[in-house]
Amino acid sequence: MDLATPAFEAAVILRRLGVPEQAWNGGSLTARSPITGETTGAVRTIDPADAIAAIDTAHEAFLAWRKVPAPRRGELIRLFGEELRAAKSDLGRLVTIEAGKVVSEGLGEVQEMIDICDFAVGLSRQLYGRTIATERTDHRMMESWQPMSVTGIISAFNFPVAVWTWNAALALVCGNSVVWKPSEKTPLTALATQALFERAAARFGEIPAGLSTLLIGDKKIGEILVDHPKVAVLSATGSTRMGREVGPRLAKRFARAILELGGNNAAIVAPSAKLDLALRAILFAAMGTAGQRCTTLRRLFVHDSIYDALVPRLKQACKTLKIGDPRAAGTLIGPLIDGGSYAGMQAALAEAEKAGGAISGGKRASAGSDDAFYVEPAVVEMPSQTDIVKRETFAPILYVMKYSDLDTAIRLHNDVPQGLSSSIFTTDLAEAEIFVSAVGSDCGIANVNIGPSGAEIGGAFGGEKETGGGRESGSDSWKAYMRRVTTTVNYGNDLPLAQGVEFPVQ
Ligand code: NAD
Repeated sequence: MDLATPAFEAAVILRRLGVPEQAWNGGSLTARSPITGETTGAVRTIDPADAIAAIDTAHEAFLAWRKVPAPRRGELIRLFGEELRAAKSDLGRLVTIEAGKVVSEGLGEVQEMIDICDFAVGLSRQLYGRTIATERTDHRMMESWQPMSVTGIISAFNFPVAVWTWNAALALVCGNSVVWKPSEKTPLTALATQALFERAAARFGEIPAGLSTLLIGDKKIGEILVDHPKVAVLSATGSTRMGREVGPRLAKRFARAILELGGNNAAIVAPSAKLDLALRAILFAAMGTAGQRCTTLRRLFVHDSIYDALVPRLKQACKTLKIGDPRAAGTLIGPLIDGGSYAGMQAALAEAEKAGGAISGGKRASAGSDDAFYVEPAVVEMPSQTDIVKRETFAPILYVMKYSDLDTAIRLHNDVPQGLSSSIFTTDLAEAEIFVSAVGSDCGIANVNIGPSGAEIGGAFGGEKETGGGRESGSDSWKAYMRRVTTTVNYGNDLPLAQGVEFPVQ
C-alpha cells in the first residue's frame, strides 16, 4: 500500500488537532520529516522580547495557580490525559513523522504521556509531608511541600513530547506554571501537544493565562529560559554538551536544575544468561529507535565462555531487521534524525575501526531520497574499551567486548563518563545482586534480565555523572518541583530553645 507523503499526513493531523494554521505555515523554522527529508512545515518562532514577556506572564499564572487546591489541579491533568487518549493515534503518528520512530514506538510515546498523567492525578491527592518528632515540649514539627514558581522545560528531539509531559504533569499538579522550549527538530509535535493541552484547559474552565506556554525557537530562546530569574526549576533534556552550557548558568543564579543528559549504556551477559531472552533484549535496546534513545544499549560485555554462542547470532539477527519507512508494517529500524547524525555515526565507525574494531553493518541503506538517512545497524567487536566506546554516538552502534571475570566487567562497565542505564543478563542470584549493589553498576537505572532501554513511568528516571544527576517521572521525583517547608509550632506557654540553649530576658 502506498503511503501518503509525511508532509501531507502532518498537515491533516495538525488541522484535525486544531493547531492554528499560522503557527506552522509561513514561519521561519523549517520542520522536516526524517522519513523522506521533506519539509513538513514553516513554523513561527518567538522573538527574544516576546519570550521574556511570556515567562513573565507564566509567573503571573503561577501566582494564581498555586492557590488552586492540588486535587483540583489534578483535574486539569486528568482532562489532558483524556485528550491524549482521544488523540493517541494522531499524535503517535506525528511523532513517527517528525522523529522517525516506528508506529508502535510513536504510539508508545503517547501512552507514556497518558501514564504520567494518570500518575500525576493520583499524586495530586498525595504530595505528602511528614510529622517529625520534636525535642521541645508542647511543640509540633512538620514538613510540607509548596509550589516553586515557573518550571522551564527544554526537551530533545528523540522524545519530543513524552519528556515534556513527564515534567509538565508533575509540575502543574505541584502548583507551578510551565514554559516549554522543545527541540527545533520537532516543533510540530510540540504544537500538537500544546493544542491538546489547550483543549483540556478550555474544558477545565477558569485557568490563568500562560499556565502552559510553548516557546518555539533555537538555543538562544532556551538560554532566555535558563537565565530568567522567575524560572525557579529548569529541567533540561539533551546532550551532555548542552548540559555543560546550561548547568553553570543555572548554578550562577542558584536555580534548581534537573539535568537529563547523554547516556552510554552497557549490558553484561554472564555465562548463566538465558541467551534467547538476552538476544531479543539486546536487539531492541541497541537497535530500536535506530539507536537514538538516551537509554540505548551501546556497550556489550559478553563472557568469553558464551561469546561464540551469542555474538555471531547477534550479528546475523541485525542483518534481518527491516530498515525503512517507519510507517510501513514490519519496519523495525527507521531513519536517523538527519545528515549530521549520519556523519557522526560514520566518523565513530571509522575511529572504532582504526582502534582495532571489526565492523559488521553500519552502511547507509537505500532510502529513495538523498535527504533521508537510513543505516544498517552496526555491531563492532572491539579489542578493548577505547576512547570512541566511551563517547555517546547517537546511532545504532553496538560495541561488543569480551570479559572473563565479573569484577573486571563491572569496572569496565563503570569506566565511562556517563551513568544513565545498565543491565546484566544472568540467572545467578549472587551476580544479579552484586550488579545492583553498592559495588555494582554506578548508573541511575540498573536492570536484571531486561535491556537498559524502555523504562516505565512509575520509577524515577535519570542518571549520574555526565548524565546530569536529575530524576524525573515516577517515585518521589515530584519533590524536585516543590519547595520543602519545615514548620515548628509552639502550642504551649513556655519558650524552650532547641539544644538546651538559654537566653534569659528579664
Ligand atoms: P541537544 O543537546 O542538541 O538539544 C536538546 C535541547 O537543548 C534542544 O531543545 C536545544 O535547542 C536545547 N539547547 C541546546 N543548547 C542549549 C543552550 N546552550 N541553552 C539552552 N538550550 C539549549 O540534544 P538532541 O540532539 O536534541 O537530543 C539527543 C541527546 O539528548 C542525546 O545526548 C541523548 O542521550 C539526550 N537525551 C537524554 C535523555 C535523558 O533523560 N537523560 C532523554 C532524551 C535524550
